[in-house]
Amino acid sequence: MSTYSPVEPGSFHVSLTHLQRRPGNMWESPLEFVAPAELEVGMARLVPGSKMPADIRIESVLDGVLVNLDFEYEVEAECARCLESFMWTDEAHVTELFLYEETDSRGRVIPAVQDESDESTVFYVHDDSLDLLEVVRDAIVLDLPLSPLCQPDCLGICQQCGEKLEDAPHDHEIRDQRWAALEGLLDSPEPDPAG
Ligand SMILES: [Zn+2]
Ligand SMILES: [Zn+2]
Repeated sequence: MSTYSPVEPGSFHVSLTHLQRRPGNMWESPLEFVAPAELEVGMARLVPGSKMPADIRIESVLDGVLVNLDFEYEVEAECARCLESFMWTDEAHVTELFLYEETDSRGRVIPAVQDESDESTVFYVHDDSLDLLEVVRDAIVLDLPLSPLCQPDCLGICQQCGEKLEDAPHDHEIRDQRWAALEGLLDSPEPDPAG
């Protein structure tokens, strides 16, 4: 078993001090992130504070580093049909290029100018480290289901009594609505002619 190098809680910063800036050099390691709060889509969300085991491989390329990251994350959600809470573990893979910041002749960083017309985000190596939060967050948000189901064929809840159909086999909802209406009339007290 490999040991995970813990990343500072709440942080998605990975230091590049182990990697020489020479194209072809590579560094890989198991990591462990801690899930941030408030990462949700509709009825599904990351379990805040849960462990996110990951494997990272960073390759030095000419103008930056190429990151390959595999990670697992825990999701909790309410079923879109029966509203029951349930959890599962998912996994994602991301590949992203982080460019080195440009420096002037004195080694000072020249602030990068993002081209407004270009919609793709450019990531930069900053202070010899990578901030993977945005990359990880984007991957999870794209993956979270809009209509989570506790099981693919969840029967949902009874329209009449609100009970979970899975738990309690029903007969009253099979009844024809028209008959139900008639029965309702029969059950109601005689209208008072003096009314
Ligand atoms: Zn369900
Ligand atoms: Zn019912």
